[in-house]
Amino acid sequence: MRVYFDNAASAPMWEEAANEMFKYLKDFYGNPSSVHDFGRKLKVVLENSRKTVAEILNASPYEIIFTSGATEGNNWVIRSAIETLGIKNIITSPLEHNSVFKTIKSLAELYGVNVHYLSVDQEGNISLSELKELLKKYDNVLVSLMFVNNEIGNLYNIKALAEVAKKHNAYFHTDAVQGVGVYKIDLQELPVDFLVSSAHKFGGPKGSGFVFKRDDIKLNPMIIGGSHEFKYRAGTENLAGIVGMAKALEITYENLDKKYEHLKELKELFLSELKQLPDVYVNGNENYSSPAIVNVSLPPVYENGRAWLMLLDMNGIAVSSGSACSSGTTKESHVLKAMNLPAERKNFSVRFSFGPQNTKEEILY
Ligand code: PMP
Repeated sequence: MRVYFDNAASAPMWEEAANEMFKYLKDFYGNPSSVHDFGRKLKVVLENSRKTVAEILNASPYEIIFTSGATEGNNWVIRSAIETLGIKNIITSPLEHNSVFKTIKSLAELYGVNVHYLSVDQEGNISLSELKELLKKYDNVLVSLMFVNNEIGNLYNIKALAEVAKKHNAYFHTDAVQGVGVYKIDLQELPVDFLVSSAHKFGGPKGSGFVFKRDDIKLNPMIIGGSHEFKYRAGTENLAGIVGMAKALEITYENLDKKYEHLKELKELFLSELKQLPDVYVNGNENYSSPAIVNVSLPPVYENGRAWLMLLDMNGIAVSSGSACSSGTTKESHVLKAMNLPAERKNFSVRFSFGPQNTKEEILY
């Protein structure tokens, strides 16, 4: 049996989305910026994709900017917020994905911005009251907090956190990569200024993503050149990627309740079976987390958790240790480090992440 439990690293594509993409790779070869019929047709397809994404999130089409993925989106928002909005203080957590965590660190040094990290408990929780206290102290603030943690699966109450930030006139950015496609997101209700997403986490293609940017905020462009993407990201659009992403988002949200219930059942079964084994610990806040992600510390084998990855792989089961971006190395996860877990629990942690295609038989296997 071959089992794929690494959906948080990259999910299998919806077949319908792949077929839709193929059409635009094969049969429609114009440039959406061209004025002739070939181009005009593609411009319509591009704008319809934008409309689809916007409608699902209850945003306006001109608030959706297509990117090459979430790393690019996060980099742009953070850099451009510092450059354009006069940000002098960033409040964030030490649990963010490296595309936020390292970007903030590096740009803060470059631009002389102060970074304030919220404290984290052993379950990976952060505190709303601590955010309030920091917001009272500082001006010209960007708050950057993720929707769902990609390593431990914790869900963060972005609505409450963003409301507090807004009350104190701070800008709010959320990396929602692991939240989009699992939770309903209504951007008329969620008072964030920037939300970043990536297609390959919800059954779209790799190398395609989008940024939601509230319309009344103007940022510097991420790439300078032509007038594509409202002049924020110059360059001929990755049309097939955009079409595939919009289709994948549409399919995901048409089936969202079913998907959520299915993931929940898988996770419950997984945990109830796993907890019968000795020396197994669940990392993160089990009671407030995404049904798609489970991080567990397994009993020590050989040197570290990578041995578990290999043992599982030899038995056909694909998982990650912490974040995929760092699992090629044996460097310890900055997320588990921030949670201050005992060394053995940190070293032998494994992330299982589920998708709609997974089955109970796979869990039992
Ligand atoms: N943020 C989070 C929370 C992620 O899980 C990932 C993917 N590992 C990213 C950002 C980066 O996304 P992309 O692969 O589209 O650059």
